[in-house]
Amino acid sequence: MRTLFRNAQCWSAGEEIFDGILIEDGLITATGIEALSSPHDESVDLNGAFVIPAFLDGHAHPIFAGREAAGPTINSLSTVDQILDEVKNFAEKNPTASWIIGGAYEAAIIDSGDFDANWLDSVVSDRPVVLHAVDHHTIWVNTKALDLAGITEHTQDPIGGTIARRADGKPKGTLREPSAMALILDIAPADTVASDVEAIKRACASYLDAGVTAATDSWVEKDMAQAYLAAAKSGDLSIAMNLSFLASPTNWREKVEEFIALREEFSQLSDPDLVKANSIKFLADGALSVGTAALMEPYIDNPDTTGIKIWDDDELLDALSVFDMLKFQVHIHAIGDAAVKQALDAIEAMMRINPNWDRRSVIVHAQLICDEDLPRFNRLGVVANIQPLWCHLDPMNKELILPRIGAARNDLQYRLRTLIDSGALIAFGSDWPVTSEIPILALSVPVNRLAPGTRSETGWNISESITMEESLTFYIRNTAYQMFRDKERGSLSPGKKADFIVLEKSLFTIDPSEVSTIKVKRIYKNGVELR
Ligand SMILES: [Zn+2]
Repeated sequence: MRTLFRNAQCWSAGEEIFDGILIEDGLITATGIEALSSPHDESVDLNGAFVIPAFLDGHAHPIFAGREAAGPTINSLSTVDQILDEVKNFAEKNPTASWIIGGAYEAAIIDSGDFDANWLDSVVSDRPVVLHAVDHHTIWVNTKALDLAGITEHTQDPIGGTIARRADGKPKGTLREPSAMALILDIAPADTVASDVEAIKRACASYLDAGVTAATDSWVEKDMAQAYLAAAKSGDLSIAMNLSFLASPTNWREKVEEFIALREEFSQLSDPDLVKANSIKFLADGALSVGTAALMEPYIDNPDTTGIKIWDDDELLDALSVFDMLKFQVHIHAIGDAAVKQALDAIEAMMRINPNWDRRSVIVHAQLICDEDLPRFNRLGVVANIQPLWCHLDPMNKELILPRIGAARNDLQYRLRTLIDSGALIAFGSDWPVTSEIPILALSVPVNRLAPGTRSETGWNISESITMEESLTFYIRNTAYQMFRDKERGSLSPGKKADFIVLEKSLFTIDPSEVSTIKVKRIYKNGVELR
């Protein structure tokens, strides 16, 4: 069956707008004049709509997002009362849920960020409630959860974590960093392969709804890999997925064999394109909002520290070299300028030691970059994976990051224009569930350097803004390249999968601030209409 889509404005990176896409067996077989003049069995009139290839997400945490979606939906609520209403509704609709676990709340909506257990008690007191904050380094719990975990005024803060307290030393209800969060989470019902398959199903449904047909899970541990295998075999994994296995300084040597075996197992799935398990995730530092990103110069609020480097230089080089030798792509989280430098140094040294190959190393976030390091992305062929929704002065930048690093450095975050001018290849990732998985919401942000839908003021560091064409290219073509999916996806051209999105109007003739409100009319995956 050959289907011709016509009367459309089709956009594909680097090409003039054209009309006509011919598809057969889920693949694009011709475009433009050639498509319009080819024989076909049916034709679809798109009434002048704007067509773009489906999006790819180069950095996200779909299982975490899917787990979170099982609980109350509190994302982007702006008051404590709204959150409490949502928790109350969820509790009423789910009377048999023994624990209520959800996320993610914006901690900056109250002054200190210390949320109170009593507030949650006022809506649910019979069962434990645990809510994750958007930074995913903080939880807010009710008194039942504190009681079950046995946390009292006598409980000491665990190493590396803190328990927020009242004046009398009793726990207030907010716990920070994994060691403190574990006091509660370790007694909550554990995630199982079956519950994670459900999480994957939910995540895929959200992605398809947003026009994303391939994504990256950039934090995969062994049990999560088992869930992906199960979901791939059962058909519940309905989008293509790239997996990045987490390596840490303490366990990477013993993980090498495990990752090789998992890669092998995924490569034997009946659809070889469905899962690419060929990337290793490294965390070089923490985050600016909590003062753990590694900086070249000290933090202003705490001049004794420059943050935390998670890896020792030599150990990072050893680990990168071993995995790169095995032809795993490296995907390094680096936020502060010292972490970015460490990652580039390690990649450069690794490239001197190991034979050359098409490695497409990734540094994700790259929020602060020293001037002298900018050209190294291009020179070393390192992809800078940036989160478009973060490129504006949001509450986190204003309330939490600015006081820690000062205005001068705060304003040097996300230098996209400078990176492009230095020759760097930028790809996009949502970091969902930290921020929304919906690309249409994010596209205008690096263009206007303003929150989605706003246009009244001048954008944050507007000289670093990019064009809408670049924004689309980074979220589609360049992410396909990063994900080694550029042969099958990322453009509307012959041989590519017929995954595309039909929008009510052109993204180039409206103000960028209106892009987030544009209607998605139809989404096609493998040539099949999803909605
Ligand atoms: Zn992430």
